[in-house]
Amino acid sequence: MKNQLSYKNGALHFERANISQIAKKFPTPFFLYSETILKNNYSAFYEAAKKAKLHEPLICFALKSNSNKSLLKILAKLGSGADIVSVGEFKRAIEAGIPAEKIVFSGVGKTKEEIKYVLKASKHGPYSFNVESIEELELISEVAKKLDKKARICFRLNPVVQPITHKYISTGNKTHKFGMLLDDVFTAIENKKLWKHCTLVGLSIHIGSQLLDLKATEKAIGKLCEAALLMPNNLEFLDVGGGLGVDYHPDDSKKMPELKTYMELIHRSLEKHYYAYRSKPVRVVFEPGRKISAKAGILVMSVLRNKVSEDNNFLIVDGGMNDFMRPSLYGAYHELFPVKKAPAKKLYHVVGPICETSDCFGSGRKLPALKQDDLIILADTGAYGYSMGSSYNLRGRPAEVLFKDNGKTLIINKATSYEDLT
Ligand SMILES: *Cc1c(COP(=O)(O)O)cnc(C)c1O
Repeated sequence: MKNQLSYKNGALHFERANISQIAKKFPTPFFLYSETILKNNYSAFYEAAKKAKLHEPLICFALKSNSNKSLLKILAKLGSGADIVSVGEFKRAIEAGIPAEKIVFSGVGKTKEEIKYVLKASKHGPYSFNVESIEELELISEVAKKLDKKARICFRLNPVVQPITHKYISTGNKTHKFGMLLDDVFTAIENKKLWKHCTLVGLSIHIGSQLLDLKATEKAIGKLCEAALLMPNNLEFLDVGGGLGVDYHPDDSKKMPELKTYMELIHRSLEKHYYAYRSKPVRVVFEPGRKISAKAGILVMSVLRNKVSEDNNFLIVDGGMNDFMRPSLYGAYHELFPVKKAPAKKLYHVVGPICETSDCFGSGRKLPALKQDDLIILADTGAYGYSMGSSYNLRGRPAEVLFKDNGKTLIINKATSYEDLT
């Protein structure tokens, strides 16, 4: 079993939280988060970067993986920055106490209004705009000129690599909309009038998500360093992106690189491709999402009923793809555990109530015989869970509940009902 999920006296616990006790207080489905796990994940990431002697590491948590304000406040207190992709995420990060100078603004479709808002919101604007096209740089330059500000610019380099991951979460090749080819970066740099109100401070990559094999990452970081040496000025930072995978499937744990391995790879690449030519230290920025948040949350659900179609056993649960989309969107695997321990006997298709065939959390899963009102949890739903959810089928959104370090549980986002859905 997973380290943070365990049975004590037959009752499933999430870290120290007794799930069936908590489910007496809150109607299912709900997301349950652990403060301890979230903090540990952040600290482990930061400490691994420090230990590998990376210069002034800045961890910009990817808000799109989880944008709950209470959770962000916890990360902000630990010193986390933020990777944001919209003005909404920018506002949320600021409200949670993450300062603009620790925020990188990513995304291919930043609007004029968004650029204006984030530039105006603080003295120097965000830590960087991670620019994805020449057209975007032109717009940032125009807005900065009007505001008489200097925008801090980082180009997101398309390193033209092909990581081994799902095609929908792979982002580092020419056929993807993300990043800029090196030639286009040069074209942008040569256009002097764009730089009156912009300063080039960094280069970034983000080649995809749920990366378990680091070969493409190593190649991409090499290219990032080589490109950095070709820039007209010394850069303040290199942003290696996010995407480090987690073990959703039990088999993933063998493949999953340790943080230490990942950080040492970055250290080695920097030594070989950057510090062999430059002595001035360059800061390393990270944009992890799921590595910090995925394992800090689970989705607690109840069984609505059983349904049998010949030899197909359907277990219909009250959580659906609108609450947690990854299985239906990417065919992602997530483990399912009954809250009450019993021998696994039956093969089930665990499905939600949504009118879509893809509304299925797992096919052919071996579980104990479960019946109406029994509790079941979907593991590792802290990333791309609530933040990706919707009210599809006019369903209310589930509550988000936090199990705190001190053992107390707290609603950190109320469930919504039909009345809230206007
Ligand atoms: C989605 C995204 C991330 C985070 O990805 P994870 O797989 O959650 O680590 C980081 N940076 C950018 C630019 C992204 O689009």
